[in-house]
Amino acid sequence: MQKIKIHPEGPALSRLVVGVWRWHTVSTQHVEVLIKTSLESGITSFDHADIYGNYSCEEVFGNALRGSSSLRNEMEIVTKCGIKLLSDKRPNHTIKHYDTSKDHIMWSVENSLKMLATDRIDLLLLHRPDPLLTPAEVAEAFTILKRQGKVLHFGVSNFTTTQLEMLQSYLPFPIVTNQIELSLFKNLSLFDGTVDTLMKQRIRAMAWSPLGGGKHFEDERIKSALQNLAELYQSTPTQLLLAWLLKHPSIIFPILGTTKSERIEDGAKSLNVALDRQHWFEMLKWVEERDVA
Ligand code: NAP
Repeated sequence: MQKIKIHPEGPALSRLVVGVWRWHTVSTQHVEVLIKTSLESGITSFDHADIYGNYSCEEVFGNALRGSSSLRNEMEIVTKCGIKLLSDKRPNHTIKHYDTSKDHIMWSVENSLKMLATDRIDLLLLHRPDPLLTPAEVAEAFTILKRQGKVLHFGVSNFTTTQLEMLQSYLPFPIVTNQIELSLFKNLSLFDGTVDTLMKQRIRAMAWSPLGGGKHFEDERIKSALQNLAELYQSTPTQLLLAWLLKHPSIIFPILGTTKSERIEDGAKSLNVALDRQHWFEMLKWVEERDVA
């Protein structure tokens, strides 16, 4: 699978990324299988956050890295910081909140490095826009972490265009991605200027919940429409939903959220599906339930 730069000055990531959000639900041994299957399928980039699995997923993933001296060099690691959960692991949190202070970013990165058993994070994202974000402080933290070689590149997640541009104006290096919710089922950012502005800035989006979180597979109408079109392309519903994102000219990086090896292998084959333009609009109509204007 091709690796592509997510920004001209950013890291090269595999065109599909695997996300570990749901991996706390499987055994340690299965996590190792999922990593191996991803790499064998050509997916070398993994998406984490400090909070995934109630602050447990980074460590479980790190345990796989601890067991192998070479594994870390076969992959790119993305992780996030900035959300503080109510958790038995963080007894001093009295409410779920955001924290993008310099101190918290620095602490969170040190902790992620430890949990992930690595000396560097390829890409660090601010997980959510924080209304109390102080851009000069973020810039200070990012600059130190970059200079120390602990974080190689920086990005954001769930930011509006304005929020991204505001933070960018304080940084001495580019924000390389905005990780946003984007799928056939949640497609507004393709139409409201969010993705257009990213294209203008040469920033490529990462798409979370690219299959809509899996829930639409239970919708009989969508399921049968997907099945019929999948047969035409000799593909699968998963591949079609990913191909729908991959066709977009902005070069979107979908993040697969499955906990099943066979679904990683299936998803990886979406790169072979060349979705026809009219079928792209037909799929859009399944969801919007009307033709474009
Ligand atoms: P997704 O790929 O849209 O959804 C995955 C879910 O769909 C899993 O529960 C999976 O179940 C199910 N699924 C997949 N194929 C299926 C099929 N053929 N039939 C029935 N169910 C199916 O992605 P996601 O997990 O919601 O999100 C992907 C990644 O995005 C996460 O891991 C995380 O890294 C990232 N993320 C980021 C943010 C953010 O704020 N930045 C927020 C959410 C997620 P199985 O496990 O059984 O396959």
